[in-house]
This record gives sequence, structure tokens and C-alpha cells, in this order.
Amino acid sequence: MAITKTKFINYSRCPRYVALDDLKKEKLDSMISIEEYKKEEEMEHITELLGNMFDDSGNDLIDVRNEHLETMMPYYNKVEILAGELASKYFKGNFKFSKSTYNQESFDAVIDNIRYLCYVDIYNENDDGINIIEVKATTTKKYLDLGSKDHSIFEKGKDGIYYLLEDLNLNIEDYMPLKVYERNRNKLFDKYTGAGHYIYDIAVQRFIIENDMKSHNENKMVKYYLAVLNSNYVFDGKYENGEAIYDEVNGEDIISYIDVTSITRDMMDKIYLDSKKIKGYIDDLNGSRVPLGEFCEYKKTVKCKYCPLCFDVLPEKHSILCYINNNFGFKKDSVKYDTYDLINEGKVGMLDIPDDMLNREKNKIQKDAVISGKPYINEKKIKDGIKQITYPLYHLDFETFPCPLPRYKGERPYTQSVFQFSLHIEKEPGVCDKEKDHYGYLAPDHLDHRLDLVKYMCELIPCDKMVLVYNDSFEKTRLKELAYIFPEYKDKLLKIRDNVFDLMNIVKTKSSLYEKLGYSKEEAKMFNYYHPDMDGSFSIKKVLPLFSDLTYKGMEVGNGVEAMVTYASFPKLLPLDYKHKYQKLVEYCQQDTYAMFAVLDGLRRTVK
Ligand code: SF4
Repeated sequence: MAITKTKFINYSRCPRYVALDDLKKEKLDSMISIEEYKKEEEMEHITELLGNMFDDSGNDLIDVRNEHLETMMPYYNKVEILAGELASKYFKGNFKFSKSTYNQESFDAVIDNIRYLCYVDIYNENDDGINIIEVKATTTKKYLDLGSKDHSIFEKGKDGIYYLLEDLNLNIEDYMPLKVYERNRNKLFDKYTGAGHYIYDIAVQRFIIENDMKSHNENKMVKYYLAVLNSNYVFDGKYENGEAIYDEVNGEDIISYIDVTSITRDMMDKIYLDSKKIKGYIDDLNGSRVPLGEFCEYKKTVKCKYCPLCFDVLPEKHSILCYINNNFGFKKDSVKYDTYDLINEGKVGMLDIPDDMLNREKNKIQKDAVISGKPYINEKKIKDGIKQITYPLYHLDFETFPCPLPRYKGERPYTQSVFQFSLHIEKEPGVCDKEKDHYGYLAPDHLDHRLDLVKYMCELIPCDKMVLVYNDSFEKTRLKELAYIFPEYKDKLLKIRDNVFDLMNIVKTKSSLYEKLGYSKEEAKMFNYYHPDMDGSFSIKKVLPLFSDLTYKGMEVGNGVEAMVTYASFPKLLPLDYKHKYQKLVEYCQQDTYAMFAVLDGLRRTVK
């Protein structure tokens, strides 16, 4: 066995990871098989892919089975192939790339008696030297968003590649204050942020490559690049033999290349220190508990795989991590207390945090609810919120597929491509039948069915009626996107969008709504409803059981990620399986809109 790039990243987390990984010292001198390497990297790619697909959704991926995740692998492979093919437009010379690791260039270095190994996604050699290009299924947005409001710390060079402003020898102060530049540049050094994660990954690659070359006395110039999806690319809907063709559109290519040579050079000392740390962990092989920290990446897609073991110190319910905004820590007498420091001191439950450390009003409400075992209810605010609702009421929900590669005309990488809608019509308060009042549309395959979906939805929802959704920014954005893709339905879709009302405004609150209704700023921003069982989450899955017997438990398709992977699996299913899965997906989406009805009805009865 050798330490691969993925292992390096994980081993640098903590000594316990290394020991738990059942590492046998004698194995370190032998080579890892290509199959083992490939499997490890593939799982890493899929995890990253899903992380990008569900960035801020709060979906917990723990329950999604591996065979489900593997459905996503072809999408990653396609990105890799496109990046390899397009590279010749930006770089001269010879290329070596393949989705099969067998045909990739590899580097191998022994440092402090430990063997390190990496394969390169795209290897390019020309008269100037070597270019190492790592393909990541993330987007340029992660990097271009770093900077001031008006300008990124990255800028496209004449060759179409993105560079740090300093690497283009530009006067940074012409673009933004130096402080802002430095602050944002530093984010690239934090491997626990989205952008920094990929920089750390390619810096480990560089460390292995440099040591390999040093051992062979090679001193060619090597440059390092990330190849990522271009967020500005809008697909023009060109297909050949049913396959999308990603030609240049309006001067934009589907893949962008970012030069990270200088930033990875600045990271070499850190990577070297991390390799020393890893060496110490391997020599000690100590599996004792260690203090928990951000490095565990608990609750993130890229979390440490041993989180279930180490986080058993947290109670199943009402843990300190259930406090809203706990990531900002807690405060007492102007002294700040980090949440992980408190956990490591044994303050693991909500009730372990003394009142005088709860500097946020919302946290006080949470704690009181846990102590009393009863929900906090602001009846007046809920009643006033419900009064805003008009009938008949249209409960609407979309299911989407955030495909890394745009599939249909007008889409960009990771566009939330709508493939299903569900609608329940509540004719008058409390009157809605789960079956009879349900309408919906689910795309039968992966062809572009958006027009049929839009047409049917517009037939069902009148322009002047209220549309209820849960967490409105998602549905509103989809309606707006569809309006611009289908101009003939633009007016209607924008009117539907204008009529959207968010049920979460009544459950949680919405400052602007309640201030308009005459509430003070303080009261307007405070929760309307909080039950101890919510444990800090206002997701419909948490709220539903408080008002209804309906449950997602036991459903074959029981959450957004499962819905997405079920849809993604359609083309591979045999007819009988397809029919079954199609029905399960319909049931899931139907449950989502009926859940909204049930929650609203429950709230109404609660404040009667
Ligand atoms: S969960 Fe955290 S403490 Fe446990 S092995 Fe992983 S990184 Fe280390």
C-alpha cells in the first residue's frame, strides 16, 4: 500500500483517523493496486460531485447508499473527458489523459520511508515544461466569487486561462483594496472551505510530483491548473445522435482552467509539515479519542468517515450543535467560547450551556423548549401570518436534477433542472384530499420535457391565486428561470412567481412581513413556532411530524437526494423496475405538497 492523495487528505485530519483506518505499517512499502486507487478516487469524486449538487440544501447524505451514489459517476467521467479534450485549445504539446487510471501519468515518491502516489487527470508536456491539470466537478463561481463586490481576485488572461491578479502583474489596488485581496486570497489556504479544499488537493499532488522529480534529478518547469466547469456557460441546445454537444457559445467554453501554480507553491511548507504529522501518526498508530474539531467536517458531504464513531459523545437529541448559529460560538462577559472547545470540555448537550452564555435570544427559546418539553408558540404572529393566506390555495413543490453538465437549452452547469412538480389544491381552509386534489407531472425519461411540465402547471394554476411553497427562494428561482427559457409562458410564470407565499414565514418568521404587519423589529425576527423535537431545523421533514401522522419513514424514496438519484437511474432500469420507481417518485413528491397542507392545517388548529 502507498499513501494516495485522498488518503493524505484524510490522514492529515487527526491521529485517530490513521489508527482507525487499520493501517498496517508493513503495507506502506508495497504498491497500491490501480484498482484500489481507482476505487478510492472514484468515491472521492462522487462525494465532491454531490457536495456541489447539494451545496446549501442541508440534505444529509449519510443515508444514501453507495450504489445510489455510483449512479452519479458517469457525470463526473464526462466532465473529465471534456476537460481533457478542451485542454488542447489552451495548452500546446502532448497530452496524456483518460478516464481510466491505467492511461494516466503517475508519480511516486518515498518521503521519510513512506511511499506516496498520485495519478494526474491531464498531463501536458511541451517545450516550456509540464502542465499538471486536475479536473474538479466544481464551478468557476467558487473562485470568481472571491474578491470584492465588483471584482474577483482572479482574472482571465489573454490565453483564456484564469490567473490571480498578482500573477498577471496587475496593480491589485486598481481592482480592490489590498486588504480585501489578501483576505480572499487567504481563503484559498483553508482546506475546510469549498475553494480551499480543491487547492489543498492539488497542492498534495504537487508535493508528490516535486519529490518524485527531485529523486530523479528532473528539473523541468511544472505548472499547476484546476479544470472546472464554467458557471457562465449557457448551453445552446445542440445535440448529435442524442448527445449534448458543448461547443463554444458566446465566447465561453464549458470548462475553464485556473492557474494555481503560485498558490500551491506557497502551500508547500504546510503540506510538508502535514506529511511529517502523518508520519508521526503512522508511527504511533494511536486510536485513542482526540478532541473533535472543524477538521472532522461533521455534517458536510466530505465529512470524515469515522464521524459516527467519534461523535457518539453527542446526545442523539438536543446536542449543542442543535443551537441555531452555534458555528459562531457562544459568549459570556465579552469572552467568546468556541463550540468545539465546549464539546471537548464535555458540554455536549443544549442544557450543558449555562443561560449566561446564551447570547442569542433564539437559543434561549430553544433551551426553554427543551426544558419544558413544550413548544414555544407566538399565537398572534401565527394567526396574523395565516390571515395573509387566500383561497383556493395552490401548494407547489419542484423536484430538480442539478446536473453538473447542462442537459437542455438555456441551462448552465449545475442548473437545478426541473423534472417534476407536485400540486395540491386546498379549496378552502382545511379542505384538501391527498389523492383527489393532487396534480403533478414527472418527466418519464431524460429527454427535455420542461415545456410539457410548464404547460400543464400553467393550465392548473390561475394567475391570480396564491401559491404556497416551503422555503420560497428555491421555487421562485426555478419559476424565473423557466420564464426566461420559455418566453411564451413568461408572463404567466412570473405572475405565478409573484403570487408565491412561503409557509416557512408562518412557521419560522420573516422580519419584513411581520414588520409590515406592525410588529417591532425584535418581535418580527423572533421565531413564531419552535418545538424541542425540531432540534434547530425548520425543514419540512422536521416540522411535519409535529402536526401530522404523515411520515417519510419507510418510504422507498424518502428525501431529495434519493429523489434525484432515482430520477438519474431511469435510463438504466428494466421496465418493471422503472414502473415501480416512477410510482415511488410520484408518491414522494405528492407527500411533499400534502405535507405543506398538513402543516398549515396543524398550525391553524394549534392557534384556534
Ligand atoms: S471524526 Fe474527527 S476525530 Fe474522529 S477520526 Fe474523524 S477526524 Fe478524527
